[in-house]
Amino acid sequence: MSSAAPQTIETPLDARRLRGDFPILAREVRGRPLVYLDNAATTQKPARVIDALQHYYTHSNSNVHRGIHTLADEATQAYEATRDHVARFIGGVKREEVVFTRGTTEALNLVANHWMLHELGPEDKILLTEMEHHANLVPWLTVAKSTGAQLIYLPIDETYRLDMDKLTGLLDETVKIVAVSHMSNVLGTINPVSDIAQRAHEVGAQVVVDAAQSAPHLPLDVDALGADLVAFSAHKMLGPTGVGVLWGREELLGRMEPCQFGGEMIEWVTYEKATWADLPHKFEAGTPNIAGVAAFDAALDYLEEIGMEAIHEHEVEMITCALDRLRDLGGIRIFGPDTFEQRGSALSFEVEGIHPHDLSTFLDTRGVAVRAGHHCAQPLHRKMGVPASTRASFYLYNTTDDVDSLCSALQEAKEYFRI
Ligand code: PMP
Repeated sequence: MSSAAPQTIETPLDARRLRGDFPILAREVRGRPLVYLDNAATTQKPARVIDALQHYYTHSNSNVHRGIHTLADEATQAYEATRDHVARFIGGVKREEVVFTRGTTEALNLVANHWMLHELGPEDKILLTEMEHHANLVPWLTVAKSTGAQLIYLPIDETYRLDMDKLTGLLDETVKIVAVSHMSNVLGTINPVSDIAQRAHEVGAQVVVDAAQSAPHLPLDVDALGADLVAFSAHKMLGPTGVGVLWGREELLGRMEPCQFGGEMIEWVTYEKATWADLPHKFEAGTPNIAGVAAFDAALDYLEEIGMEAIHEHEVEMITCALDRLRDLGGIRIFGPDTFEQRGSALSFEVEGIHPHDLSTFLDTRGVAVRAGHHCAQPLHRKMGVPASTRASFYLYNTTDDVDSLCSALQEAKEYFRI
């Protein structure tokens, strides 16, 4: 666990060398070297994160915040050290503002269903964008249904970016929530969240940011972003599954009611009533994923040592190469900005004449792991005019060799399916 300022090992990043830190990347799939391009779904874990999980269970396993014996103390320290680390990682916020959840989905549900449900009425509006993942859409659909609030959407334009000219017409004092993804998991578009937040605040709305795709890939400063609440998942940034973060401004979290009740979230309980613990514990009822949180610390160390700027620069290189190579192949429609500006490394596309599921199955026979489907963004795919797409998504351990492998396999697929 680290408390010192992060050290930067190198810029630009040496992906070929970093690959050695990820044991799974040495395996074969169907007799071919694994080419892992499904990082927007989840990322692989460096040995030190796997070691941290094992170390926790081997040496310190206990419950947190409860016992006063040595193991309980060590477990609590490991868990709480990660909270401090997350607070530094997202721009130096207060540790009380960092709530551990199971992931982005749980964090967004907590905000929507357990808070906004009580604050919204039929005269209010919730502004989303047309590119939201279901995790930042369906909870708001249910809130709108229960409260009578109206959902409105900031559209995307023909370049797959938000149509910011339309924002002015949509934002007024009736908008109470603006919930927006920082980076689209389908289009790769990086949204101008700070601009949106500033304008949302001018009409008194609260800004909820789905940072599931940006926290792993970009420097994240939640305050500079102008957000009020931000959610992200550890497993998309080299950490274990089952751990997520909800960051919120202290004043807002203070007003929010807890959503789960039981051990460790209380201050005082009688047979008649209960009062809640201070932030952040009032939102962390029961035994959390202690090992996962402890190991997330090692993932954050790793990311910081490489440097988030270097990671982004590397991905710009990957995406520029991939866009060029896919264009050269021909017969491929790219869903997302076709230049690297304001773009992350999720690259969705359609190979004319081949269903994404068939394509993905074929690519798997060549060892190439991509995602096929609607990527939990059905309305967006409907808007794009397709039921599904194929998505390749890159991370710090991908190299231009992976782009070559993807493109050779795509060329083979075109020949195999005779298109
Ligand atoms: N939002 C976005 C933009 C995502 O890409 C994802 C994961 N695909 C989620 C939310 C949900 O994350 P999780 O499944 O970790 O809760």
